[in-house]
Amino acid sequence: QAEHSEITTCAYCGVGCSFRAEMRGEEIIRMVPNKDGHANHGHSCVKGRFAIGYATHKDRITKPMIRAKISDPWREVSWDDAIAYAASEFKRIQGQYGRDSVGAITSSRCTNEEVYVVQKLVRAAFGNNNVDTCARVCHSPTGYGLKQTLGESAGTQTFDSVMKADVIMVIGANPTDGHPVFASQMKRRLRQGARLIVADPRRIDLVRTPHIEAAHHLSLRPGTNVALINSIAHVVVTEGFVNEDFVRARCDLASFDKWRIFVSQERHSPEAMQDVTGVPAAEVRAAARLFASVPNAAIYYGLGVTEHSQGSTMVMGIANLAMATGNVGREGVGVNPLRGQNNVQGSCDMGSFPHELPGYRHVSDDVARGAFEAEWNVKLSPEQGLRIPNMFEAALDGEFKGLYVQGEDIAQSDPNTQHVTASLSAMECIVVQDLFLNETAKFAHVFLPGSSFLEKDGTFTNAERRISRVRKVMSPKSGVGEWEATQKLANALGYPMNYTHPSEIMDEIARLTPTFHGVSFDKIDRLGSVQWPCNDAAPEGTPLMHVDAFVRGKGRFLVTEYVPTTEKVNAKYPLILTTGRILSQYNVGAQTRRTENLAWHSEDRMEIHPHDAEVRGVVEGDWVGVTSRAGDTVMRAHLTDRVQAGVVYTTFHHPFSGANVITTDNSDWATNCPEYKVTAVEVTRVSQP
Ligand code: SF4
Repeated sequence: QAEHSEITTCAYCGVGCSFRAEMRGEEIIRMVPNKDGHANHGHSCVKGRFAIGYATHKDRITKPMIRAKISDPWREVSWDDAIAYAASEFKRIQGQYGRDSVGAITSSRCTNEEVYVVQKLVRAAFGNNNVDTCARVCHSPTGYGLKQTLGESAGTQTFDSVMKADVIMVIGANPTDGHPVFASQMKRRLRQGARLIVADPRRIDLVRTPHIEAAHHLSLRPGTNVALINSIAHVVVTEGFVNEDFVRARCDLASFDKWRIFVSQERHSPEAMQDVTGVPAAEVRAAARLFASVPNAAIYYGLGVTEHSQGSTMVMGIANLAMATGNVGREGVGVNPLRGQNNVQGSCDMGSFPHELPGYRHVSDDVARGAFEAEWNVKLSPEQGLRIPNMFEAALDGEFKGLYVQGEDIAQSDPNTQHVTASLSAMECIVVQDLFLNETAKFAHVFLPGSSFLEKDGTFTNAERRISRVRKVMSPKSGVGEWEATQKLANALGYPMNYTHPSEIMDEIARLTPTFHGVSFDKIDRLGSVQWPCNDAAPEGTPLMHVDAFVRGKGRFLVTEYVPTTEKVNAKYPLILTTGRILSQYNVGAQTRRTENLAWHSEDRMEIHPHDAEVRGVVEGDWVGVTSRAGDTVMRAHLTDRVQAGVVYTTFHHPFSGANVITTDNSDWATNCPEYKVTAVEVTRVSQP
């Protein structure tokens, strides 16, 4: 029997399902999906409902710890001593190596308020803009690409909008595993008769599932997204499918004309591109015609779009297609990035970028920066700071020495593990704030215990810009909440912070961020959730964006030239590895691997086409060595024709197989989002490790 409960928000994916967390004392006994939840309407998936044991797992670290060298054993200390040690080290490093030698990485697992306070610490106490978010490695191209074309770094719709779609195009996303509750809603619409187009190198479940068969599965070669979207656009433009009225009324015509001329060129036709993409031209033409000929066509995309050397270009290509066919600004349409973690959208909104203040205002914008300077009573730097990969490079150059990492296991999650760990080893003070001693903590000097979502008050913002409350049902196990620890560190560094509750942090965010002017805990409590922009113009929030005009005024088309990745297959590395996740695990598995239920104990496997397996003498369940230009690892093989011949696929949930040991440093040209989805590899049979 529950003794007390609160409505809160799931800490896993970007759907942001609402639950009632039922407690007996300090023990969580049940997560009950909330029928009134605006994102999930009473539904849930196995992760949100059952994978909660990590919150009380024995591996939780609940005492702050320090050590002078990473070869020393950890020493438990008081909060005051840990904070004083971290502050003195950061001060020493800045004194010795300069103001820009320290920085922080925020987490999309943390609340908006926790992220906001960390970026404030960096800007106000460190005095630089060296703050980045783990969204760098997932959806940073979404932020960039959508801002350039539509004017706002966010998806355009609500999840419920899919119920008005006539065609659903899913590009580089696997909603069944990654966003299960939204996938169920999407499937309901498909069973009602909406048509489905899937663009993915792998035959994801959605392609063929009970009562659903994709009209077209465009099984493209990894790394050729932009070639494919250009060939779809070619059909739209050359076969008369442009929505001329929409484009004339809503878009920048000079940019449209330039784009139209570009995609009309024969070199972008499906026939010209089929040797590049591997997708038969007739299939591309049929898919393009279907997409462009229905009243409402909606695009949903994921990391298969963003995690490429042309991730930002592909996001722009998707926005171009939506605008050209008039599929923006009403229900059933839109450009919909499926955000991975629970608060990817929020961590970006909160200004944890080295070039942007909260609300996506550039640090060089004197007016925006002036407002923060007045509120924070400090002079801020107008110079862009370091992105995560820049921090790693600067560390190897001896210029970056101190890092505060909030809730992200960069040593496991970021690409080219060898490069990351070499960079971490070159730093002199790493402060890790987390629930567990993760892979990154192996390189840390200070460990500050984090709090699970059950131990905190605050807000998460889901993939549809919906800000929902996270409510505390138990005290922080360490006695100190995450924002409180950050605040202590700021004070110890000499910059005063005096919040007494996260609602005060949100009030400050609202004062300083135009799209949040109308947001408060009271309003969210009253309405259940609000979707930003929420301000005087939209006091109850904005479910659909760009309804009468684009945020930037006229929608801007951008030319999207296809540039092949530099990651090439050759005789030594003849296969292309691409990556993804499974339903029962979550990212680096810090939470899901710590559940009591054995059904969760999966392993990362290498999916390989039976033909590729046969020529290598590999049979089902064999151990295989996987070698790339970056490194090598071992895992078990799984033979399946879900993947094309020439392509292999794995997940990245376990440190044992460490998929990122083999991913490379290639990244998106605009945002440095890593190219996780294209790695040239060879697979060979090995004996059991
Ligand atoms: Fe949590 Fe996502 Fe599952 Fe909803 S769909 S319960 S937000 S993991």
